[in-house]
Amino acid sequence: MAIRRIRELGDDCLRKVCRPVKEMNRRTKILIEDMLDTMYLSDGVGLAAPQVGILKQIVVIDVGDGAVILINPEIIESDGEQTGSEGCLSVPGKAGNVTRPNHVIVRALNENMEEIEVEGTELLARAMCHEIDHLHGIMYTDKVEGDLYEVTNEEEE
Ligand code: ZN
Repeated sequence: MAIRRIRELGDDCLRKVCRPVKEMNRRTKILIEDMLDTMYLSDGVGLAAPQVGILKQIVVIDVGDGAVILINPEIIESDGEQTGSEGCLSVPGKAGNVTRPNHVIVRALNENMEEIEVEGTELLARAMCHEIDHLHGIMYTDKVEGDLYEVTNEEEE
């Protein structure tokens, strides 16, 4: 177990397009474990590999229902709309309002490189959209409506 340093807004890694994962190996398994440890320690509900400086298409999410690991994720369906407060571990202490789909279906590979589909509404849909954006160099601050505001002890993604 290891905690990785979270890159913050302004770091080039957060603006890069990530590469797909082609095979699972020891190095990538350790990365996923470290990402989970780092997310839980930071009280986040999601973390994407570029946030720890690794430009691979991997995200981890836990909105309270257990860990979801998404490798090479792709949103294949989205509908509805939700507007709500969103934060990011790479933008500590801040949050802002972002509009996202209220329902998405994501196709991805799991940690065993098996194809999975994950359906999410509300917070899970928001978290998946937010984390998948990271893999394309997009930050929620690009989509925020109005100004960012200060938060204390709020859930961050
Ligand atoms: Zn984020």
